[in-house]
Amino acid sequence: ESVINRIAAGEIIHRPASALKELIENSLDAHSTSIRVTIKDGGMRLLQIQDDGCGIRKSDLPILAERFTTSKISTFSDLSKLTTYGFRGEALASISYVAEMTVTTKTKADSCAWKACYSDGALVPFKQGATAEPKATAGTDGTTITVENLFYNTPTRLSALRGSAEEYARILDVVTKYAVHNPHVAFTCRKANSNSPDVTTPSGSTVTQAIRQLYGQTIAKDLVHSVISSPNESGESDDDPTWSAEAYYTNANYHAKKTVFLLFINHRLVESTQIKKALETVYTGILPKGTSPFIYLSLQLDPRTVDVNVHPTKREVHFLDEDAIIESICDKIQQSLVAQSQ
Ligand code: ADP
Ligand code: MG
Repeated sequence: ESVINRIAAGEIIHRPASALKELIENSLDAHSTSIRVTIKDGGMRLLQIQDDGCGIRKSDLPILAERFTTSKISTFSDLSKLTTYGFRGEALASISYVAEMTVTTKTKADSCAWKACYSDGALVPFKQGATAEPKATAGTDGTTITVENLFYNTPTRLSALRGSAEEYARILDVVTKYAVHNPHVAFTCRKANSNSPDVTTPSGSTVTQAIRQLYGQTIAKDLVHSVISSPNESGESDDDPTWSAEAYYTNANYHAKKTVFLLFINHRLVESTQIKKALETVYTGILPKGTSPFIYLSLQLDPRTVDVNVHPTKREVHFLDEDAIIESICDKIQQSLVAQSQ
């Protein structure tokens, strides 16, 4: 049974960066204002995330890593109204099947922190022979999740990974994108043996400040900002679901070799080759041949029309009325770019 669970977990947690993405979303769901990531060996030896969010009650710790344990959905009708990032209750369970996972957490109401170790979906003792239960420890409000020796028991996953430098680059990419999307939250990401972080943002910035800090002054200087909404935003007709988008994108003065594209749908980092290609086409004739733009797009869709959690390995997202929505966004961006260059 545990072999099957491990294989299933490996489908959800593909690599260190995909584990980290789930953990960051949990920290954001917990209303953290500070998220600190520490990495050893590209996340394979150690991946640690420390937040200052609401914490987890001691009574919830025994079942925390069981599949479908979630505090984010209580009734079936919640499913269609879901606004938080995850509802599957599978991330921590999956991680516990393919790594050694330790959780240290403290809610405001608790007088001390509690520490618990997990393996294969269950609480495990801290040392052999001891009982499997959380133990009291010192700690500040919030949650620290430590993931060690990722894929130690799933050699096929481990061998599919790139070197630690490339895995670390993917981790930095995930942290950087979430930091842009959540400029009110302070993010840091560093290697365990280094004191200076490779990514760092203060809390309470704006999107533009975060982009400047993370992607450089040249991008930020030439940014255009648009807020775009569905034609029926007035809400007169209920037939077509409404949507809205916010975009920050470079103007004609900015040229890079490769497109930088950040896409969030309902606050979840996703990928869409279709949207990326459509947006690149908008820049044809605006940017010199062979150069590319920077685009950060945040889309809000009716949760009933998109399932960003359909399966974490389905990296390409699709949604209802995709073509029409993409066209509206591209039109608006094109108009702004043309207006800018006049
Ligand atoms: P989901 O996010 O889909 O609910 P997860 O497996 O990612 O499932 O997390 C399980 C539960 O653990 C969450 O619903 C939440 O209650 C709790 N949890 C996980 N991480 C944190 C965190 N950083 N702070 C507070 N609670 C957390
Ligand atoms: Mg989650």
